[in-house]
Amino acid sequence: MAACCALPQATHDARAAYAESGMLAAAQDYEHGGMQLPYVIEAAANAFFGKASISIGSNLLTVGNANLLMVHGTELQKQVFAANEFNGRWAGTMCLSEPQAGSSLSDITTRATLEDQDDPLGPRYRLRGNKMWISSGEHELTENIVHLVLAKIPGPDGKLIPGVKGISLFIVPKKLVDTEGNLTGVRNDVALAGLNHKLGWRGTTNTLLNFGEGQFKVDGEAEPWATSSASRTRACAACST
Ligand SMILES: Cc1cc2nc3c(=O)[nH]c(=O)nc-3n(C[C@H](O)[C@H](O)[C@H](O)COP(=O)(O)OP(=O)(O)OC[C@H]3O[C@@H](n4cnc5c(N)ncnc54)[C@H](O)[C@@H]3O)c2cc1C
Repeated sequence: MAACCALPQATHDARAAYAESGMLAAAQDYEHGGMQLPYVIEAAANAFFGKASISIGSNLLTVGNANLLMVHGTELQKQVFAANEFNGRWAGTMCLSEPQAGSSLSDITTRATLEDQDDPLGPRYRLRGNKMWISSGEHELTENIVHLVLAKIPGPDGKLIPGVKGISLFIVPKKLVDTEGNLTGVRNDVALAGLNHKLGWRGTTNTLLNFGEGQFKVDGEAEPWATSSASRTRACAACST
């Protein structure tokens, strides 16, 4: 990865201190490493952190990502992905917008093709498409990044279905993992295509990500591996930024 994603040391220090404080899991139950705080207390506390540092603010995407998996994910997806986001090991994103689709998410064209229905982490798909404006889409603050990606599963004729029908949500780790949450050593085909520079934002990244362009080959295939979350409803689109 190019050095274009190098963030200030202060961002690394602040992120590490925030994760160490346990705030990523503050509203989770004790058994999930949380403090069992009411959500409203967590949200109020995070308002201060978010105002103090925009790079901490982008960590809240990680919490939103993991919260979504706690509601819609399988038990294994919660253990492998959500737990490692709450404990600070991995970060998370929300990949909804595309260059041609912002508010109108029914216009997304990222497509998902089923590859293995029986993968223990959830039915496995190959994704191809572009996601724009993705906050914290690439960085080296954490060992891995868990992208939650909206994509369409084509209809029987191979064409994308117009409107919101066929939209599903996919878990796309930047680096592939096994069922124990270990990195397999294979880089998934999620490529940084560009950085969006925003006035005053120095402590975090905003990115254009290409899925399945072939920069990183996975099992000889160009498209990235993705596993669907248990719920394939468009309710997941409520997690828009
Ligand atoms: C700082 C920043 C970070 C972001 N991070 C992420 C991220 O992490 N992940 C992600 O997926 N996206 C992200 N986005 C993208 C963001 O979700 C989109 O910008 C947003 O969905 C709006 O889409 P758009 O910019 O294409 O505007 P448009 O959809 O083109 O909207 C333009 C204007 O038209 C209005 N409008 C649109 N549709 C209608 C309608 N039907 N009726 C009336 N008015 C309408 C809107 O209110 C707006 O004023 C980010 C954007 C910013 C600025």
